Amino acid sequence: MSYALSVALLTPAHSGIAWRGDAVHQSGLLTYSSQYAYDRGTLVRVPLGRREVLGVVWQNTPSVPDTNALVLREIAATFELPHPLTENWLNLVEFAAKYYQRSIGEVALNALPPQLRNLTSEQWARKLRSTVKRRPARPIVNPVTQTLTSEQSGSLEKITSRPGPFLLFGSTGSGKTEVYLQAVHQVLQADPTAQALVMVPEINLTPQLETRFVERFSPIYGAQAVISLHSALTPAQRLSNWLAAHQGATEGGARVILGTRMAVFASMPGLRLIVVDEEHDPSYKSQDGARYSARDLAVYRGRLENAKVILGSATPSIESWRHATTCIGNKSRYQLLEMPSRVGSGNLPTVRLVDMTHQPAKTLFSPQLLDAMRQRIAKGEQCMVLLNRRGYAPILGCSACGWKSGCKNCSAYQVFHKIDRTLRCHHCGFTEKVPRACPECGNLDITPLGRGTEQIEEQLAVLFASILRPDGAPARILRIDADSTRRKGELGRQLSEVHAGEVDLLVGTQMIAKGHDFRKVTLVAAINPDSALFSADFRAPERMFALLMQAAGRAGRDSNKSSASEMWIQTSFPAHPLFKALKQHDFSGFANQELKEREQAGMPPFSFQALIRADAVSQGIAQSYLQDVANAALDLPQAERVTRYPCVPMTVQRVANVERAQMLVESHSRQALQIFLSAWHPILHAVRASPAHRGILRWAIDVDPLLI
Ligand code: ADP
Ligand code: ZN
Ligand code: ZN
Repeated sequence: MSYALSVALLTPAHSGIAWRGDAVHQSGLLTYSSQYAYDRGTLVRVPLGRREVLGVVWQNTPSVPDTNALVLREIAATFELPHPLTENWLNLVEFAAKYYQRSIGEVALNALPPQLRNLTSEQWARKLRSTVKRRPARPIVNPVTQTLTSEQSGSLEKITSRPGPFLLFGSTGSGKTEVYLQAVHQVLQADPTAQALVMVPEINLTPQLETRFVERFSPIYGAQAVISLHSALTPAQRLSNWLAAHQGATEGGARVILGTRMAVFASMPGLRLIVVDEEHDPSYKSQDGARYSARDLAVYRGRLENAKVILGSATPSIESWRHATTCIGNKSRYQLLEMPSRVGSGNLPTVRLVDMTHQPAKTLFSPQLLDAMRQRIAKGEQCMVLLNRRGYAPILGCSACGWKSGCKNCSAYQVFHKIDRTLRCHHCGFTEKVPRACPECGNLDITPLGRGTEQIEEQLAVLFASILRPDGAPARILRIDADSTRRKGELGRQLSEVHAGEVDLLVGTQMIAKGHDFRKVTLVAAINPDSALFSADFRAPERMFALLMQAAGRAGRDSNKSSASEMWIQTSFPAHPLFKALKQHDFSGFANQELKEREQAGMPPFSFQALIRADAVSQGIAQSYLQDVANAALDLPQAERVTRYPCVPMTVQRVANVERAQMLVESHSRQALQIFLSAWHPILHAVRASPAHRGILRWAIDVDPLLI
């Protein structure tokens, strides 16, 4: 008896190429023969072309001889696991592949630790022996928990007694993390096989959160009970941690998995609870490969696995807000849990708007703001200045001839970095020395246009040169952005300087606005947030509001110091409704207004979108491909319910000498859009394969795109 196994593989998915007689199905599944009926979810190595690759058994059927002219190749080896990948895991992968229009093979293999692909079965067996050890049972220690506030215990009670999913809408500093910790604790205690998944946007930005989970749970469940899964781990660590999660609690594996968006695919046989912290954060949406939303998949996975789901934020996404506040029948999709108050007596900061139209042109800091910051520092408090643009200036220009520092590879400007006197393109990375004179006319007087964090840091150094801290030392300024933290470990080091109070003035991008529990910051200033008010991207106000509210949330977290913590906003549009809502800390007012506007305009979440993106050697080729696939879509199922917009160049049209175009499709029905896309997908492959479109470098479908 032999079996036909269909195996999920990582093939060059988008090429749709079948090579050397291997019939690669578009789903990324390929059929092999085997003497054994390996279980669905078994890891195997199989021949593919001349290589041998990792695969996951997806189906096994007794093979019926002679129905297929193809002679099937045989499975080469298996990777023994404590147990196969679960049915739920396979279903999650299948759903994600279908919904985001990728092959099962691609999603499945990318959900596994990359190092698995390079191991022989002997190496794997050794790895398995060294990792999978039964750990001794430990005495249960009573955890040190905090007494919950009434808002916290109210939320926890509902989480315990109701099915969810929950939207935990809690102000910055309302103690959401403590609610997560206790919800996780309850789940782990109630069932010795239970596991919990806690997702965070960027693990490097929240070292404190990891510490809190480890401190809470390792005394109870052992040093290995809390593990992390994210891309900054070494391949070997990632494999070990993945295996610890896959082992399941009963076999001495991990009980709490802390991870970034990739962790939504972690193999966790005992999954009972999923927490998505800062659920509004755009980094939950993958921007390449399968462009999945880990938040949305978390909700799906919760339903699939019968695990509770808690989405938490002080500034929920408009989508989640709608699910939690709109009733269908007499029930909303998510259950809203509100925690408006801060723990202790720490109040949210007073928001002060400075009307910059009353200041001389090009004023960086209004005198009022400078005064306020100087006073804070003299009292030993910390200030934080937020500007969402790194580098010294976004453009270098010549005042004589109008030359600007455009990147030779991109339709974007090279950013001026004064520290190492370079011009750097933030899109393609192209870097060169700043020219001595204008490359066009030779004028020696080339000047920075606009400002970035480096320039703010430089200016503050001048403005605060004579300001002393209470201990008589001069005020210390620190800049934190992607440039200052490039080296490994640097961000952690800089953040601990802030926590230790060695820094008086912190300058930075959104990196400093998120999640940190800075205890001594009492003043936060956004010096130029206006651009988002007039962006073509309909989500820009939502992102800006969240950023400012999160930034404000860094101030006044220590109730002993927060008597008068402040958030300063310098703007030329102080009457804008976004700032008015911010002044009241009124997220729901802002969100409800956004929802109303989006409903009137028929935008998400009242419609569903997908983008088809094409990269090509020329803009014309990119657009003609999109035009051809659009023409071929006229008769597809549900086409009448799907609006197709004209193809357009992307905002940054050329990156690294690649021309980029996109086409938006939209429907009022998610299901109609799904049916349409599934029918369209093979056409996108087929049109791409025609000789007329040889200049296309790649194409992709982005379902529920965040950036349009
Ligand atoms: P959030 O995640 O909502 O911004 P955190 O969970 O970080 O808030 O809590 C803010 C601060 O309050 C933390 O320092 C935390 O240790 C503290 N905290 C949380 N809950 C309690 C509580 N019930 N009693 C005392 N302190 C608390
Ligand atoms: Zn010039
Ligand atoms: Zn470039």
